[in-house]
Amino acid sequence: MNTASIQPVPARVARKVRGMATSDGAGVKLTRMIGGPDLPDLDPFLLLDEFGTDRAEDYIAGFPSHPHRGFETVTYMLDGRMRHKDNHGNEGLLTPGSVQWMTAGRGLVHSEMPEQESGRMRGFQLWVNLPARDKMTDPKYQEFAPDRIPVATPAPGVTVKLIAGRVGEVIGPIVQPATDPVYLDVSLQSGKAWEYALPEGHSAFAYVFEGAVTVGEADDARAVDAQEMAVLGGGALVQLRAGNRDARLILVAGRPLREPVMRHGPFVMNTRQELMQAFVDFQEGRF
Ligand code: FE
Repeated sequence: MNTASIQPVPARVARKVRGMATSDGAGVKLTRMIGGPDLPDLDPFLLLDEFGTDRAEDYIAGFPSHPHRGFETVTYMLDGRMRHKDNHGNEGLLTPGSVQWMTAGRGLVHSEMPEQESGRMRGFQLWVNLPARDKMTDPKYQEFAPDRIPVATPAPGVTVKLIAGRVGEVIGPIVQPATDPVYLDVSLQSGKAWEYALPEGHSAFAYVFEGAVTVGEADDARAVDAQEMAVLGGGALVQLRAGNRDARLILVAGRPLREPVMRHGPFVMNTRQELMQAFVDFQEGRF
């Protein structure tokens, strides 16, 4: 048998999630796709929030000072401007199309506040777990302005912005060997199709935020509408096709850690004792 001829197995929609309207920070309205009761986690992903509103009152209070320990927060801004500051003296401005991949590691305290008083604010925050060996690592940032996020055009009518992962010869800037993440912002013109092979064994989801796509093989492809997330299963070959409008989605995947998760709010550790220690360290100012 010629193994080179083996094709990746097509992915299918294992389940669809619509998310839960909630609020976080000082009252920012958002939709929680991962991390709510429907889908508590999708190893290594702990949380996915979409924020998207034209109403300043939905975001103006922002996310004042709060801690994180034991994982990574990934902010991808589509519209709007958000300023972040942490207690180690790091500060930056997230502009439309930029990404901040923050490794909280052993801990930091930061704020994320809107740098605008009106207009649209739209984007995603994803939490990615760290393996036990990296939970107490030094905090660090991988932050990229939009002009540093490469764009691939792998098929006619298909444009892919690469935050993490690889499409042909184009490679996204994020480096994280622990979970080997893929984070693609995929735009499909109406009727156009694209197929993409994810790394084998990764957990994966597609969240559609404009238009609608079908996911899966022609015969049993499933429709995924805007504001729906498809948890992918089955195989690694993701087959996407836009409906009769232009569509846009994020396609995200990562290697599962398969470790115990003990989480409470902004602390995600492996054991109860580590979780208790996180509270003590935070209260005693060791972040
Ligand atoms: Fe935060």
